[in-house]
Amino acid sequence: MKTVSLIKRSNGSHWVGDGFPVQSIFSYRDLARELSPFVLMDYAGPADFAPTDERRGVGAHPHRGFETVTIVYAGGVSHRDSGGGGGTIGAGDVQWMTAGSGVVHEEFHSPEYAHRGGPFEMVQLWVNLPAKDKMTPPTYQGITDAEIPRATLPGGAGTVRFIAGEYGQARGVAHTFTPMNVWDMRLNAGHTVHLELPEGHTTALFVLHGEIRIDDQRVGTAELALMERNDSELAFDVTDEATVLLLGGEPIDEPLVAQGPFVMNTGAEITQAIHDYQAGRFGRIPAAT
Ligand code: MN
Repeated sequence: MKTVSLIKRSNGSHWVGDGFPVQSIFSYRDLARELSPFVLMDYAGPADFAPTDERRGVGAHPHRGFETVTIVYAGGVSHRDSGGGGGTIGAGDVQWMTAGSGVVHEEFHSPEYAHRGGPFEMVQLWVNLPAKDKMTPPTYQGITDAEIPRATLPGGAGTVRFIAGEYGQARGVAHTFTPMNVWDMRLNAGHTVHLELPEGHTTALFVLHGEIRIDDQRVGTAELALMERNDSELAFDVTDEATVLLLGGEPIDEPLVAQGPFVMNTGAEITQAIHDYQAGRFGRIPAAT
């Protein structure tokens, strides 16, 4: 049975632009090696925004060397990037953007959501790319709730939406560069969840709402339980109706050097990224039509 390696709480809160009040759950400054292939996780909200017709969010900024994965639980987000990608996602939808060799993008509350106001909640993950794929051309996967395969857990323990990865017959919808699981789990109190996961992979459970008990430890709202990599059996009790994000994957065992919005393998590659961005080589966001 997998045991808990550590339980992580927020490093603190900050605003990303004027749209995203985030708790930094982990980043390349602390647990990127332990959480590999995941480099960073921000939990935005839950918050309540008043209706407005102003644009709230974060304007043009670059990324290189990894992927940003935005999972919306409430509210709506609109995105545009210099690779020509873009779209609006709402509750249940996911944006999987491969920055690869470099994008400039903007992230705002969607106009519809901003106008309506109300609850806002999302997770943004940064997923590392292996060295051989860091300079892959940028791509954008806009994934709707309806496209995400679901499965019911045995005994009425809850449901799982497979954003990425696989389990039994279920196949996640997102294309990934290395094997990983990103699952949105909605779990019912009083049940025990048993899962069989690849030994040697990273496994972590982030609780957005409710409470679980694992390896005799309580994990509550906005807490992340990182499991040891040995053993393949994961079991935990759902002590209060819970929304849990399961993160798993094959660790990318390569040097990692990150600075600001760039995640590379060496300091020289970071310097190059800054230089290329400043020279305009990441392109521009197309003018709005
Ligand atoms: Mn960004």
